[in-house]
Amino acid sequence: MNILFATSEVFPYAKTGGLGDVCGALPEQFAKAGHQVKVFLPKYQAAADYFNQMQQLNVTQTIKINGSTYTLNCFSIRHKKLPLEYIFIANDSLFDRPELYMDRKTGLDFEDNDDRFIFFNQAVLVASKQISFQPNIAHVHDWQAALIPAYLKLNYRNDSYYKNCKSVLTIHNLAFHGMFPNNRFTKLGLASNLFYPTSPFEFYGKLNFLKAAIAYADKITTVSETYAKEIQTEEFGCGLDGVLRNRTDDITGILNGVDYSVWSPTRDTEIAHTFRIQNLSGKKMNKIELLNYAGLPIRDKTPLIGIISRLSDQKGFDLIEEISDKLFRLNIQLIVLGTGDKKYHELFTALENKYPDKCKAFLTFDNSLAHKIEAGADMFLMPSKYEPCGLNQIYSLKYGTIPIVRKVGGLADSVIPYDRQSETGTGFLFDSYDSNELLQTIQTAVELYQTKRKWTKLMKSAMSSDFSWNKSAEKYLHLFESLVSKQYEKTV
Ligand code: ADP
Repeated sequence: MNILFATSEVFPYAKTGGLGDVCGALPEQFAKAGHQVKVFLPKYQAAADYFNQMQQLNVTQTIKINGSTYTLNCFSIRHKKLPLEYIFIANDSLFDRPELYMDRKTGLDFEDNDDRFIFFNQAVLVASKQISFQPNIAHVHDWQAALIPAYLKLNYRNDSYYKNCKSVLTIHNLAFHGMFPNNRFTKLGLASNLFYPTSPFEFYGKLNFLKAAIAYADKITTVSETYAKEIQTEEFGCGLDGVLRNRTDDITGILNGVDYSVWSPTRDTEIAHTFRIQNLSGKKMNKIELLNYAGLPIRDKTPLIGIISRLSDQKGFDLIEEISDKLFRLNIQLIVLGTGDKKYHELFTALENKYPDKCKAFLTFDNSLAHKIEAGADMFLMPSKYEPCGLNQIYSLKYGTIPIVRKVGGLADSVIPYDRQSETGTGFLFDSYDSNELLQTIQTAVELYQTKRKWTKLMKSAMSSDFSWNKSAEKYLHLFESLVSKQYEKTV
């Protein structure tokens, strides 16, 4: 198959969270299976280290968005071994900025995010045609690429080039819709009668990119089986649960995998001491180095808890705030790495000041430190309100860093609850979004940590878990093949 993959983040060129990791790894799996894959992403400043490897493609076009005219240029990096090419959609006035989505100074979304991603969506289809890449499947990710299914169905319906192209939307986080004032609908360049109350583009009077993709994509996937069910309920549906229920037969949950060449203690190039199940001594040395780096005292019998996260309401930090004094009465140390909402920066700064020998907060984005925390911490805390998949708890398992998580979404699908009787499981889960349940769960983990034999057994069981991409990639490919073969059935 020819697979067009459109996303706003691809590791290592651009990443703010799990979307970047997934879109960095998944296309390689498709290409390894022998498919021709072109990954389209904006050419942000974030990819500056790679600009000198890029070849400019022979694509020339201007794209009009309302009164403004934007020039499209395309640059490419080809994978050395696989039938895989990264195509960077360039327009410096739109993408050559220090941040991907928001103004660093104000912390607010860029005012022209609609123009930026309308341009991106249109440009992907223009460029793919100009480079003569005729896709069987357009696999689009989140709101930033969500207009492609609509454009295929509306603008290209009678275009022989794209007529047979099927689209699959993957929702990595339903909370982000790509919502704009309704008067901006005209920018999409579609017939004005397509915007009316309850139309695919309309959401409580506003323009909503993700809703359009939910309506127009041929299939919808999301990043865990549990989240696929959750998003069809009022509690987790972010107002789109009704629209999703209308498409229930077309929704599949496929758990994200992990690129173990990047995230595993045996191969990690960011950590000082690699280690393996048979010999965990490297983990202890990583912990000592991490504590030294954080300026925390080394305490032999004290478990070190790690947090690596966007600091947003989704991630459950208000629960930590509620129990913080009780939490730090426990025999623990905590290292936090994250950026995001000001109130959580303040929370972790206050905790660090109050408990200087127990808590250290790195309020920044630091990929290398993220690896060092995975490798050096004993436990990983992720008490999310909701969690589409979550990657850090899955990385943690491989590093023997025992996850303490809430039983929602992908957290429920990736961590097996520890059972005291049988001494089986891979981590600790709690059910309700309740700070006391969280505290009790942390307490249970901290107690078990004191029994070295049991803790080591738990670490080894976590480290044996396998979330490599191949199984999940196969599920995507089956889905794509079912759409493509349906098309052939129709035409025969
Ligand atoms: P989400 O996609 O909701 O942000 P995930 O757990 O799925 O959460 O993925 C988060 C990814 O982003 C992981 O690779 C994690 O290591 C990384 N990450 C998050 N915050 C930071 C940070 N402050 N510094 C470095 N990496 C981070």
